[in-house]
Amino acid sequence: MSFLNAEEPSACDLVNDFGLKLLWHPSLGMELGEELQGLLTKCVKGEIKVDVFVFEGSVIQAPNGTGHWNRFAGRPMKDWVAELSKVAGFVVAIGDCATWGGIPATAPNPSDSTGLQFLKKSAGGFLGQAFRSQAGFPVINIPGCPAHPDWITQIIVALATGRGGDLKLDEYQRPATFFTSFTQTGCTRNMHFAYKVSATAFGQRNGCLFYDLGCRGPYTRSPCNRILWNRQSSKTRSGHPCIGCTEPEFPHHDLAPGTVFQTPTTLGLPNEVPPGMSKRSYLTMVAAGKANAPQWSKDDMFVV
Ligand code: SF4
Repeated sequence: MSFLNAEEPSACDLVNDFGLKLLWHPSLGMELGEELQGLLTKCVKGEIKVDVFVFEGSVIQAPNGTGHWNRFAGRPMKDWVAELSKVAGFVVAIGDCATWGGIPATAPNPSDSTGLQFLKKSAGGFLGQAFRSQAGFPVINIPGCPAHPDWITQIIVALATGRGGDLKLDEYQRPATFFTSFTQTGCTRNMHFAYKVSATAFGQRNGCLFYDLGCRGPYTRSPCNRILWNRQSSKTRSGHPCIGCTEPEFPHHDLAPGTVFQTPTTLGLPNEVPPGMSKRSYLTMVAAGKANAPQWSKDDMFVV
C-alpha cells in the first residue's frame, strides 16, 4: 500500500515512463486462484522472466518448519518465496518484516517468522547468508514500518534501468544512498537537541523528543527528514518520536514495558548514547548546551 503512494516516481511512472511490466501485485494483480497459481508456476519454471522479485511480509515457517500457517496460491508462501528467489534477477525485501522479521519475529516469535536474509541483526534469515540472485546480488533490503514509497520506486527504477551495479549496500544490505544519514539529519528540532530543550508531550511544537519521549532519531539510519512523507512532513516534524523502524532491532528492547516512548537511562545518562559519542562527550555536550541555551530556544517560536 505504501508503494501505491509513491510520487517520485509514482507506480504509474514505472509503467508509463520506465516501461516496467508489473507481473503481479496484491492490489493491482488481475489474476486470482488458479490463474495466479499458473502465472507463478510459469515464473518459477522460467517461462516468464522475473527481473525483480519484490517481497513484503515476514517469511512464516510455523508450524514445525512447514509454513502452513501462511498459505498462498495453494501452498505455503515460503515455498513460492524460495522458488521465485532462485529465478529472479534481483530480490528486494520491502519493510521490516521482509528484511529482518519485524514485529512478528519479536520474541517469543510463535509464527517462526524471519526476514529474507536476516533475522533481526543476524545474517542468514530464510534464504541463507550465501544467497545471491541471478544478477549476483544479495537481497536488497528496504526497511521501514512502512518503507517510504519513493525509496521503493527509486530502487526498482535503478534495477530495471540497468543501474543495479551502482547500488552500494551497507552492512545490513540497505541502499547506502538512503540509509547512511540519520533520521535526525534534517530534523527541525536539532537545535532543541543541542540545547537540551525537551518536548514533554506528543505534538508539542517546541523541543526535542529525545530526552522525555524516546526519540530514536540520533540512532536510526533513515532519510525521513530529507525525503519527507507525503512530500511535507515526518514523524519528528509532526511531534511524534522516531521509533527506529529502519533498524534491524525494531521493535527495540522487545517492547519491554518502560522502553517505548522513553529513552532508558541510568543515573540520568541514556543507556545508549548516539553513535560516535562516548558517554563523557555526551555529558559534556548536554551540560554545555543546557547551560548556554538562549531564552528563544525555550519559547514557543511557532506563533500563529
Ligand atoms: S526530535 Fe528526534 S530526530 Fe529530532 S532532534 Fe530530537 S532526537 Fe533528533
